[in-house]
Amino acid sequence: MYPFTYHRPASVRKAVNLLASSEDAKILAGGHTLLPTMKQRLAAPSDLIDLNGVEGLSGIEQKGRTIHIGAMTRHAEVANSDVVKEAIPALAKLAGGIGDPHVRHRGTIGGSVANNDPNADYPAACLGLGATIVTNKRKIPADEFFVGMFETALEEGEIITKVLFPIPRKAGYAKFPNPASRYALVGVFVSKRGKDVRVAVTGAGPCVFRATALEEALAGRFAAKSLEGVTVSDADLNSDIHASAEYRAHLIGVMARRAVAAA
Ligand SMILES: Cc1cc2nc3c(=O)[nH]c(=O)nc-3n(C[C@H](O)[C@H](O)[C@H](O)COP(=O)(O)OP(=O)(O)OC[C@H]3O[C@@H](n4cnc5c(N)ncnc54)[C@H](O)[C@@H]3O)c2cc1C
Repeated sequence: MYPFTYHRPASVRKAVNLLASSEDAKILAGGHTLLPTMKQRLAAPSDLIDLNGVEGLSGIEQKGRTIHIGAMTRHAEVANSDVVKEAIPALAKLAGGIGDPHVRHRGTIGGSVANNDPNADYPAACLGLGATIVTNKRKIPADEFFVGMFETALEEGEIITKVLFPIPRKAGYAKFPNPASRYALVGVFVSKRGKDVRVAVTGAGPCVFRATALEEALAGRFAAKSLEGVTVSDADLNSDIHASAEYRAHLIGVMARRAVAAA
């Protein structure tokens, strides 16, 4: 690991000021992605700005028909939250299926969303539920937030403070996990809220995406049967040592049907 300067600010304002005044600073949340990258010398930030001492960035609250989850909330807290289990059980299930207990007790929703790993679970929930990502500067709809592989709409010096999830009428998540890491080989999050039907796919492509053909099929009747015979093209999907694009396209259909059945 290359040397760096460590900071532990107590407020978002101080963290933002440190980001602006440092040469090449990085935010540290759970550290589950950032620290291994630094240990492998693939990242060499000049400064680490640790959010673990910042007041008010963690916690889960229901306000009206929306669930507010602070950026520093750990996956285990979301998985075990009575509020989340009652309002959006599919979100609690998704959080409970991330990695292993160690990962779930350190990893944060803010870190996962900011990192936008193509195989991560939370991006599917954000897109699949039509969430809003709140930063120190603005509110970004999930539809505009995830822009490419490990790439988001976040600008320099911008910090995620919370994620807002509207409560759906129905929602479900199914993933085919990589047996080693538990990251999604393919994960599909489905939801229905009023006339809004969403199907978000993670793990299959370079970035989480909405499967519009599946959304159209479910718009008439939100049932697994509606997806029979509906296929997803493998043209833009990933092919690697774990699975071919063709296999991933097949898994999208299978996971989508399971997610709808779970919803
Ligand atoms: C063995 C292992 C298995 C895993 N399995 C899964 C899995 O099955 N599914 C899954 O979805 N994930 C999985 N993960 C990822 C893990 O869940 C974490 O969510 C992920 O590492 C990022 O969260 P973090 O809090 O650790 O962020 P960090 O590593 O601290 O930060 C990640 C990036 O986000 C930036 N960042 C962090 N917080 C903010 C913020 N509030 N605002 C702006 N930028 C920010 C950092 O600067 C950094 O660039 C796994 C990780 C490991 C190590």
